[in-house]
Amino acid sequence: MIEKRMNEIIEILNKASYEYYTLDKPSITDQEYDRYMQELIKIENDYPELKRDDSPTVRVGGKVIDAFDKVVHEIPMLSLSNVFNESDIIAFDERIKKEIKNPKYVCELKIDGLSVSLTYKQGKLIRGATRGDGVTGEDITHNVRTIKNVPLTLNEPIDIEVRGEIYMSKATFESINEERKRNNQELLANPRNAAAGSIRQLDSKIAASRNLETFIYHLPNALDYGLHTHSESLEFMQKLGFNVNPNISLVNNLDELLEYINYWTENRDNLPYEIDGIVIKLDDIDNQGKLGFTAKYPKWATAYKFPAMEVLTKLKDIIFTVGRTGQVTPNAVLEPVRLAGSVISRATLHNEAYVKEKDIKIGDIVAIRKAGDVIPRVEYSLKERRTGSEIEFHMATTCPICGSNLVKNKDEEASYYCINDECDAKKIESLIHFASRNAMNIEGFGEEIVEDFYNLGFIRNFDDFYRLERKKEELMELEGFGEKSISNLLESAENSKSNSLERLLFALGIRYVGSKTAKILASNFINIDNLINVQYEDLISIKDIGEVIAESVCEYFKNEDSINLISKLKDLGLNMNYLGKKVEDNLLFSGKTFVLTGSLESITRNEAKEKIESLGGKTTDSVTSKTDVVIVGDNPGSKYDKALKLGIEIWNEEEFLEKVK
Ligand code: NAD
Repeated sequence: MIEKRMNEIIEILNKASYEYYTLDKPSITDQEYDRYMQELIKIENDYPELKRDDSPTVRVGGKVIDAFDKVVHEIPMLSLSNVFNESDIIAFDERIKKEIKNPKYVCELKIDGLSVSLTYKQGKLIRGATRGDGVTGEDITHNVRTIKNVPLTLNEPIDIEVRGEIYMSKATFESINEERKRNNQELLANPRNAAAGSIRQLDSKIAASRNLETFIYHLPNALDYGLHTHSESLEFMQKLGFNVNPNISLVNNLDELLEYINYWTENRDNLPYEIDGIVIKLDDIDNQGKLGFTAKYPKWATAYKFPAMEVLTKLKDIIFTVGRTGQVTPNAVLEPVRLAGSVISRATLHNEAYVKEKDIKIGDIVAIRKAGDVIPRVEYSLKERRTGSEIEFHMATTCPICGSNLVKNKDEEASYYCINDECDAKKIESLIHFASRNAMNIEGFGEEIVEDFYNLGFIRNFDDFYRLERKKEELMELEGFGEKSISNLLESAENSKSNSLERLLFALGIRYVGSKTAKILASNFINIDNLINVQYEDLISIKDIGEVIAESVCEYFKNEDSINLISKLKDLGLNMNYLGKKVEDNLLFSGKTFVLTGSLESITRNEAKEKIESLGGKTTDSVTSKTDVVIVGDNPGSKYDKALKLGIEIWNEEEFLEKVK
């Protein structure tokens, strides 16, 4: 039984590896691959006698294709062991501590690309090679030469081999796929496979057109250059002219290590490239040597993989829901799966066009993805897993709640609306929205209570939230409610009256005014009367307010019903003023301290300073724990080292210019 399962998993993993490393066209997700791998590792640990010599747990990477010259790596290019949660990280740290006192670690982003070895003779690039199976890779020098941030000549005429990652930025990936879509070509699966596919082209023109980039993170023979820590070797490589990732940090203990991981788990979506985890490396190179290697990976490093953001499951049905604006949305009913810590059984399918474009059918195996806080959505369906019994999707033509005919919106091709103002679903959704956390934040009014209170007639309009005192006796008679719980509800409604204006603006449900726009409006107009009298021109003169929003805001405040509602809320004692920071405190760099080091290429230091100040930031000369960002140009000095030591955010010139653009 166990042996059969083991062989089955090996077969799945081998097929997946071939598709991933050789064809650059995976058919299962990385998380599925990792799960099978963990299952195999467990079987092999529990039944060591069954372990096969050719097991994927001991082999690195993929096959070497014949079309490329082979390159033998003098020092093997290994993979990394994987850890998946905090207790695995603690166990890794403890294992290291058994042999080494007070270890320091370098934390790096795990760039989702493919590894590359670059060899230089007398400072000139002579070879670029892939990892291949770790011992033998492929010669890709012709393509590596096309990568702009791979130096062809180093700042010193030395012989050296360095290693790093070739990757494709999210923006490049998207623009290539857009073009492929226009040309009816098959879309690239993800930036990692797109980078791998581009670098393994025989024609270097193709690689050149793909705008690949590199981060260099490893110097195999560091001791030969008199370097005894990994952090020094990174600095050394940067000085030679290599692109080293600016977000690397040297940490002194486990707490700092976990802090780094938490920070990037939350902020990874803001990076211009994809990362799939954090690499943790022992800083001391002599001690690295003491710990050594297994056949597949070094024992002095490990890769923490982020929790699954994408999983596969079955799409059982498609149902329709009505939002507060009346928009009718198709939703996927799923076979429940765990995703980033919660069980998911629903996901959004956005609209008719989305489902059609992605060719999603009921019964398909689909990939579900969660990004940041947003509702999980169906990303794509696996056509190759179809059995023939899948059912074609048809958009609803009537409102699933009130039954009235849906109307297609002229401006947004794909959207259908229920335009019945009395539709219960719309009203309930708008009330739920009004009380929700990012809007008026009336604690205790969750979806169910709002729906019940609506159906019982206690809350029909926004102002009713503030008139419940009168109905206290009746409310207390309701099943599950007592004096205390009702008082709590009344109190939280009362508390919400003093909210700053932006919450109210968001809560009102003005079309296209999300919480961010509400904040912009509130901080610019300070009180609601200014907004009631606002002119279209005043609105569009504000950065970030476009025509669509401006029109919608004008329309809302021209409507008599809106004015009546606002006046009722005013009479009930709701605050109508903005209580936050003023516009000038709201600039991109407000409250941030910057330090500049090294020489900048396309902008002078003074210009950079002026730019920072015009955006609300300030610049100082020395790096301290109070520094927020260090901007690093060419040949940076000790300030850069200090920033690395203190784990301060580091931007290169390009990143700075991108931010201020
Ligand atoms: P890995 O991705 O787990 O980690 C090792 C690699 O990380 C290194 O080789 C290097 O290329 C990269 N890396 C990125 N940033 C780094 C940094 N700062 N320092 C050091 N290394 C860094 O190992 P792998 O062997 O390249 O790939 C295995 C993984 O690939 C699997 O865990 C799985 O997620 C994925 N995979 C997926 C499929 C599939 O079918 N979906 C198939 C095979 C492999």
